[in-house]
Amino acid sequence: MAIANDVTHTNTRRVRNVIRYTTWPMLVIACVWMIYLGILKDQPIIYFNITYFCLALIICVLERIMPHEECWLKSDGQIVADLGHTVLSKIPAQIWAGLMIIGILEVAGNDGGVLWPNTWHPAIQVIFGLLVAEFGLYWAHRFAHQWPFLWRFHAVHHSVVRLWFVNTGRFHVLDAMVSISLGQAMLLMAGAPEFVMLWTAMLTPFIGFLTHCNIDMRFGPLSYIFNTPELHRWHHSRSKEEGNTNYGENFMLWDQLFGTFYNPPRRPSPNIGIGDYMPQSFWGQLKCPFVWERQQAETNSNEVSSMNNLAAKKP
Ligand SMILES: [Zn+2]
Ligand SMILES: [Zn+2]
Repeated sequence: MAIANDVTHTNTRRVRNVIRYTTWPMLVIACVWMIYLGILKDQPIIYFNITYFCLALIICVLERIMPHEECWLKSDGQIVADLGHTVLSKIPAQIWAGLMIIGILEVAGNDGGVLWPNTWHPAIQVIFGLLVAEFGLYWAHRFAHQWPFLWRFHAVHHSVVRLWFVNTGRFHVLDAMVSISLGQAMLLMAGAPEFVMLWTAMLTPFIGFLTHCNIDMRFGPLSYIFNTPELHRWHHSRSKEEGNTNYGENFMLWDQLFGTFYNPPRRPSPNIGIGDYMPQSFWGQLKCPFVWERQQAETNSNEVSSMNNLAAKKP
């Protein structure tokens, strides 16, 4: 009986491991396939939106049945702020991206500029385009962590205390516009053609959705190439040494080359967030970067006075 139980237990563990290792690649492949179908049938926007909705639904279910961190399932009271930032940063950021795409097509035309490797296989051109855009996104993200003025805006994203798919789009609107500008500027300079622009614009949100999800998955060697949830959890660490790493949006190539790739063989702490003060409300968070120094100073003096009060009460 004990042997039968052991065999069942081993088989269950094996099945669970297969699911853990295959979930992320299967979801990415499904998204890539849907983008391909959308472009093939000349309905890229409709296919993109259907895929976006289905992916959100699948992640929502998987987060509940196989969470990476149980404690991240509890509400942090930030859902309104998360969705508010997502909507607000999407609208001007998309208009901005659209204007830049028009600019790119003016310069390069539908088949790409003179610098662009038009003779390469279309799939290789898409991967090349993603890596070119990623160079701009990588530096926008790294500057946002290392330059105190830009950190004020990016801190809105990092102030979350749990990771789940809903806070994927939680970016201050100006933070989102800086990173889109640098990503698109790279493609503009490289003279990328229209289909490469479409693929880049559609694949990035899907990979982003997955990096924030709270699903118990394994990645093995994939984490050396792609930005997986495993890497992004380190990026949200409270420790600056751990958090100022893994800046890549889709791929880890630039992190590998510039020495910011980080994936130690241990489990990251679920206690994520920032050491700075961030208001709880959506409007407070929008305003916070503009009154940063005053708010941080007020928080510090309040903390000092409450510590003094505690010390005074001690017998
Ligand atoms: Zn960051
Ligand atoms: Zn994040």
